[in-house]
Amino acid sequence: MGNTFPAFAEPKLGDLVIKIAKACQQAGGRAFLVGGAVRDSLLGLAPQDADLEVYGLQPDVLEKVVAPFGKIHFVGQQFAVIHLATGFGDLEISLPRRESKTGPGHKGFSIQADPELNPEEASARRDFTVNSMLQDPITNEIVDPFSGQRDLKAGLLRHVSPAFSEDPLRVLRAARFVARFAWKVAPETVSLCWAQDLSELPVERFEKEWRGLLLRGSFPGLGLQCLAELGALRWFPELEALRGIPQDPVWHPEGDVFRHTCLCLNAGAHIRDEMEDPWVEMLGILCHDLGKAETTNFERGRWRSPNHDVVGGELSHALFKRLSHQEGIAPKVAALTRDHLRPTQYFFAPKVGDGAIRRLALRVDISALIRVAWSDAAGRDCSNMPQWKDWEPGRWLLNRAADLGVKDSAPQPFLLGRDLLELGLQPGPKIGKILNEAFELQLDGKLPDRESAQVWLAKKCAR
Ligand code: ATP
Ligand code: MG
Repeated sequence: MGNTFPAFAEPKLGDLVIKIAKACQQAGGRAFLVGGAVRDSLLGLAPQDADLEVYGLQPDVLEKVVAPFGKIHFVGQQFAVIHLATGFGDLEISLPRRESKTGPGHKGFSIQADPELNPEEASARRDFTVNSMLQDPITNEIVDPFSGQRDLKAGLLRHVSPAFSEDPLRVLRAARFVARFAWKVAPETVSLCWAQDLSELPVERFEKEWRGLLLRGSFPGLGLQCLAELGALRWFPELEALRGIPQDPVWHPEGDVFRHTCLCLNAGAHIRDEMEDPWVEMLGILCHDLGKAETTNFERGRWRSPNHDVVGGELSHALFKRLSHQEGIAPKVAALTRDHLRPTQYFFAPKVGDGAIRRLALRVDISALIRVAWSDAAGRDCSNMPQWKDWEPGRWLLNRAADLGVKDSAPQPFLLGRDLLELGLQPGPKIGKILNEAFELQLDGKLPDRESAQVWLAKKCAR
């Protein structure tokens, strides 16, 4: 670990950091890079964003110093943080500040910006020691008041101070860093996490951390496992319920449904770059077996979970509500959950009609479904899984879907309401009924194109 200037993913961002640091110096202050950029750079990674903390300048002076470098937005309480739109990565510039809890809930914080604080005092509000280091962009000196470098070497997440308990979100942040770096959480930090009440937090704050957990690291399964170890699954009961749910050891030598889900997430992370919508698909993997918690029974000599796909679809809605308020995502996740068995089921079935494939494409994105099903198959202790595109059930389904023209898009109805109106039908429920009937025939392959659908319609109206 040498003290060199971070190699930002976008070098222009690094140049800008140095320019701003020099401008601050000229005005009599001192700027430090803080947080993730210092940590990632010490790990040999290229930081995407930069956070600067500027000491010794009053807010109005800092604003004047920064203004020539881009468009300024103020964020947070007391305008303590300046966001600079750069066009090549986020740059946030803040004054050192004290944060103290004044009451329950996420708004019960008092924030006092104070340019006269020293780096040791200001870093006490940070979450983990590895995130509490500062680096002077001009001299490259690293200021490390809480031994972050020692913990970084040991791969340990350790809270900076007892104030850690003032923001329960830090429990989720721990899991997201574990998902990214496969670190351990220090035992004393684990104890503090168990005492946190996540119900205080608004869902909006969860989403960023869940996205981080599922989308940024190579080990989202370790992140989920970490949530269990930190006592945080109490706040996500649909996931907690998977712990200890048995599976048939022949099909699932890896253990219970929770462990399986963790392994599936790690498998999914391997192919995340190929996902159309990684947020939806990783959530699909997270949720695919939620239904097993309610449906698993020992029947006819083995553990079975009949209907767990359908029940899981319902439960995925309940879980999603706890993670995010984003519109339009939950139905897609539920559809992937409900149909996650279809690729293997159809592949092994003696005969599957075209209608079944077309209807599947109507409900889900076929490629996304195959990636979820592949992750399900890969989520066990086995190392000889083919790539998702070479996985036989997936390849077979993709070919069938391509032959039917529904690989990349859902089937579109040949007939529309206006076709019926043109034939003189009055608007009303009858139109919907006829359109449905036509679309079902189309999905079954009995109306192969628009012309045949129009002929069918003309006959129907003539009757
Ligand atoms: P990433 O690379 O994922 O952005 P990061 O460490 O930069 O990781 P941010 O959420 O961007 O994470 O936060 C920047 C820094 O601000 C952190 O490194 C940490 O020092 C501090 N921080 C952010 N959120 C909190 C929090 N809830 N409690 C304490 N410190 C926090
Ligand atoms: Mg960051």
